[in-house]
Amino acid sequence: KHLYGDYSTPEKFLESFMAGLEKRNPGELEFHQAVKEVAESVVPYMFNHKKYFDALILERMTEPDRTITFRVCWEDDLGNVHVNRGYRVQFNNAIGPYKGGLRFDPSVNLSILKFLGFEQQFKNSLTTLPMGAGKGGSDFNPKGKSDREIMRFCQAYMTELSKHIGENLDVPAGDIGVGAREISYMFGQYKRLNDNFVGVLTGKGISFGGSLIRTEATGYGVVYFTENMLNHIGDSVKGKRCVISGSGNVALYAAKKIIELGGQVLAMSDSGGYIYDEAGIDNQKLEYLIDLKTTRRGRIEEYCAEYDAKFVANKRPWAVPCDLAFPCATQNELSFDDATDLVNNGVMLVAEGANMPSTIEAVHHFKANNILFAPAKAANAGGVAISGLEMTQNSMRISWTSEEVDQKLQDIMRSIHAQCVKHGQNGKNIDYLKGANIAGFIKVADAMLAYGVI
Ligand code: GLU
Repeated sequence: KHLYGDYSTPEKFLESFMAGLEKRNPGELEFHQAVKEVAESVVPYMFNHKKYFDALILERMTEPDRTITFRVCWEDDLGNVHVNRGYRVQFNNAIGPYKGGLRFDPSVNLSILKFLGFEQQFKNSLTTLPMGAGKGGSDFNPKGKSDREIMRFCQAYMTELSKHIGENLDVPAGDIGVGAREISYMFGQYKRLNDNFVGVLTGKGISFGGSLIRTEATGYGVVYFTENMLNHIGDSVKGKRCVISGSGNVALYAAKKIIELGGQVLAMSDSGGYIYDEAGIDNQKLEYLIDLKTTRRGRIEEYCAEYDAKFVANKRPWAVPCDLAFPCATQNELSFDDATDLVNNGVMLVAEGANMPSTIEAVHHFKANNILFAPAKAANAGGVAISGLEMTQNSMRISWTSEEVDQKLQDIMRSIHAQCVKHGQNGKNIDYLKGANIAGFIKVADAMLAYGVI
């Protein structure tokens, strides 16, 4: 019998399932939210496909294989000792080795990593590549730390993590606060501890097994997916006014691809606020931003000293009128009120570059207003997809050219779009959230069923 009570109708089951999940995972609000968003699509589907229902697949998919937490001790430049908490949530390896990023941010806790690991199951499944799901990181705050401090923290973190990962076991990558620099320090430490040069991390430098286009992949993928959605209704990104939140890799390379496809990027942001450039951020201005945010690690506000643009402090850019909105910063950055602003200002499509940037109320509001909505697990899967291709190149001991990788990325995003269309039929419209949830679910669920009860 089901763990969570009443299962006479999909509605009743959903309600008692969520109540049970919340009780078993107290206070893990982000995790509850991510599960609810998936369960709303998957529960009705399971009622028509009883094999999943009878085997308690959803209950099993909402319980991680294991969660690992550990102490990370490191010394700052002045010799002061610091203690942080390190994590790795190995969520599910039904369809491949655990795979997913590491996040270094003070907000990191088990709830956030469980939501991210849970989402990763569906996302990795959609890529068509053989990757299970995991997520990890630490509550360490990389902001304002010196390069040496980052190095010492990464080495300390990897000293423990290295016991739990492996090229066929668990392959972490970057996420918020973990970029090429951090991956390099961690890879160096893994290699030193194990004397084993294998592709145990992705997002590596090009000279030591990294893949071309990995840095750009998430942002490019979001825009390829958007272009697929628009092409499906006979439209395109060309000429569209676009607003992007964030200014990390996802946001910066989404902007680059939008510009390349002839769209206009009006706004971008960081945790200090947003810039609004009425004339549009062109390639040259974007190069400045890429240097500012990735090399110099500066504040986005500095853009306004260089170019004619408005800076709005402590706000995300959702009040700027646009056709396409790309939340690419972090979870729950787009509320119901923001969704209302976007809808009232005539937005036609919202594509999630970050993981779960829209609250459930915002997602429902988009749906109620027939706004095209690309959920993160489909739209931002390009990053982990190219991580998967980095693993392939590492095991084959080859490197593909940029053109080859980019072509594969485009093919994968097209395939994800096709899977969403297939499973997301909703009258004359496509419900991309439902499509992504169900398509992602089927592959993992079928593998779990095949293994029997384990
Ligand atoms: N952190 C990224 C994500 O959310 C990438 C994970 C990876 O490349 O393994 O999908």
